[in-house]
Amino acid sequence: MNQLNISLPDEAATLQLGASLAKACEGSTVIHLYGDLGAGKTTFSRGFLQALGHQGNVKSPTYTLVEPYQLEKIAVYHFDLYRLADPEELEFMGIRDYFAQDAICLVEWPQQGAGVLPEPDIELTLDYSLTGRTAKLVAVSESGINLLHRVQQQG
Ligand code: ADP
Ligand code: MG
Repeated sequence: MNQLNISLPDEAATLQLGASLAKACEGSTVIHLYGDLGAGKTTFSRGFLQALGHQGNVKSPTYTLVEPYQLEKIAVYHFDLYRLADPEELEFMGIRDYFAQDAICLVEWPQQGAGVLPEPDIELTLDYSLTGRTAKLVAVSESGINLLHRVQQQG
C-alpha cells in the first residue's frame, strides 16, 4: 500500500492526521507538505508536533525558513520554503546537516527547493475544494511504505 486518501471535515481532523503520522514515525523521516496557502500544512504540522510533546503554538517559519523543535524522543525541523528565492540558498543554510541527522523533517512548499532538497519518504497533499477538504498521502520510499502501514493499523 503506498497511497492513502482521507477526508478532513474539520480542523480537528487535520490535527489528528498530523498526530497519526507522528505516532507512526520511527526514526528519521522526511515528509513533504503540498497544498495552497490555507490548505492546512501548518495545522497538520501543529498536530504532528503536539503529538510528540510540543506544547504551545506552531507558526509557519516563513521568514526564517526553518524552526527546530528538540522533543523528548527526536528532533523535528519544520521548514516553510514559500519565500525561498533560489533552491541554492538551502546550501547556504546548511540543509545537508538538517537532513543528515536522526530527525524528522516536515517541509512546506518543497517545490521551492527542487533539486537541492533530499527525497522525501512521504508526500502529503492537502486539497481544498467545494466538496470539502481532503488529504492524499503517498509513500515514496521503503520506510514511507512501512510508515503508511502503521498509520492504517492505527484505525
Ligand atoms: P497552510 O500552512 O497550508 O497555509 P494553515 O494550516 O496555516 O495552512 O491554515 C489553514 C487554515 O484552515 C487554519 O485557519 C485552520 O484552522 C483551518 N483548517 C485546517 N484544517 C481544516 C479542516 N480540515 N477543515 C476546516 N478548516 C481547517
Ligand atoms: Mg503554512
